[in-house]
Amino acid sequence: MPDTSPLSFQPAAPIESLLATVALNQTASEGMRAMMDRQSEFPSPLQAQLTGIALDPYGRQVADQALDTYWSDGPRREALLGSSRTDREIVIGSGFHAAVYAATRVLSGYPKPLVLERSDRAGGTFAMTGRPTFNLNSRNRPGSAGLAGDQGASLNYLPGAPIQAANVSMSEFQTNTDMAFVIRLALAQYADVVTSTNVRAVTQDGAGVGIDFEDRDSIGAGRVIDARGLGDPDPQNAANGTTILAFPQFMQRMATLWPLRGVRRAAVVGGGDSAKCAVESFLGVAPQPFMAAAALDTVERIDWYSDQLPTTCDDWQDQIRGRYQAIGRYLRADRFGVRRLNVVTRRARPVALPGMALIDGRTYDLVILCTGNQETDIDGLDLASFDEYSLPDGSVVARQHYNLPAFRVGPHACLPFTPREREDGIADIAANAVSMFRTATKTAALAATLRPVAQD
Ligand SMILES: Cc1cc2nc3c(=O)[nH]c(=O)nc-3n(C[C@H](O)[C@H](O)[C@H](O)COP(=O)(O)OP(=O)(O)OC[C@H]3O[C@@H](n4cnc5c(N)ncnc54)[C@H](O)[C@@H]3O)c2cc1C
Repeated sequence: MPDTSPLSFQPAAPIESLLATVALNQTASEGMRAMMDRQSEFPSPLQAQLTGIALDPYGRQVADQALDTYWSDGPRREALLGSSRTDREIVIGSGFHAAVYAATRVLSGYPKPLVLERSDRAGGTFAMTGRPTFNLNSRNRPGSAGLAGDQGASLNYLPGAPIQAANVSMSEFQTNTDMAFVIRLALAQYADVVTSTNVRAVTQDGAGVGIDFEDRDSIGAGRVIDARGLGDPDPQNAANGTTILAFPQFMQRMATLWPLRGVRRAAVVGGGDSAKCAVESFLGVAPQPFMAAAALDTVERIDWYSDQLPTTCDDWQDQIRGRYQAIGRYLRADRFGVRRLNVVTRRARPVALPGMALIDGRTYDLVILCTGNQETDIDGLDLASFDEYSLPDGSVVARQHYNLPAFRVGPHACLPFTPREREDGIADIAANAVSMFRTATKTAALAATLRPVAQD
């Protein structure tokens, strides 16, 4: 794999547009101007400017808006989707792996891929909210890509990105929007991005593929990189959008005004990382929500339905990874005998009642369902049509379609832990299966080694 860290580069059009928008705004450009005093510490002045923008909340907000405006521009979208080109690569999804693929591909000398995103905001899972609502799992460290346990490596590293997550905050654990900003800058530099474009089907079209949408004509491409991510909440869950929310709906609520107004008793169902992030939001140990204050809105009781979690503070300390230790303190009574958090060791299925939700006879103002995901539907790209894809050295980095020029990357490739990952202890934490540190280098290696599309 080539060294993909850009020492200096010409800003692509969306980055130029972002810089111009910020520079024209005296208040938004304060961080950018201040950071120029330290530009000698950066590989290039551009990276100093982008770091300054990222570190200034208003600068970052203006920059984010500039990117959304650029990517949603109607005529630009039509020009990109209006032509069928069999020599281009299309990436489905605009998350971390789309950005890794695009950055490595371009820095390896290939043309920019076209990235298609169904949502109106590019950036994938970490961009599910515009304001910070949850923290990442791995500590914020400078350094290049590496594996868990490597103190010299950054586990939130995006190969080839104009700036890294370690540039955009010094908190012990970065927020989702810190990582989203890095992903979005990488996409802006190395991809053509079109938002609000939902891919419905992929079919064979000569040596290439036809891509079908629900609301417009098909387009052609030479290769598809399927980076759909972890998918949507399981459709079997009982979320009603008001008193029972799926995890992404809850995060969206946490990014709005007074998100916990009227919530005194809450429940969380599920024991994975999403559930832990939801519990942190209720306890007040997640990123500070916009316009929320303890004097106004405090959740007094949280029941957490899961049969996989420790129920006492001591067991929590022993069994749960460092990132989530703050939750454990709430699993014991305070000195007045009040305990806010209770783990209920059974599975639950809530029922929506008018204005509340019911679980096992208990009523709640709000219930959050964190019970797993199901991949989004695209005809022609079902998992059964893909086999593992290896590099010449035998390392499995993606999945390849059996007859279409299509590859699945990232968690969407569903690659099992390798014997080496088991030996190294990476498989000891189940959530590492989808961690960026595990999957980023695989996607980068694919992007660096695939032949030009016409030769498939
Ligand atoms: C709450 C939570 C916290 C996490 N925290 C961490 C962490 O701290 N560290 C870590 O390493 N990993 C973490 N992960 C895992 C990490 O988010 C994922 O592994 C990573 O985002 C995967 O990136 P991706 O690009 O493959 O997919 P995503 O980021 O999920 O992006 C996929 C994109 O594809 C789009 N899409 C789907 N279907 C279509 C379609 N048909 N047409 C067009 N677009 C489509 C989606 O809208 C989405 O934007 C976390 C996951 C969650 C849910």
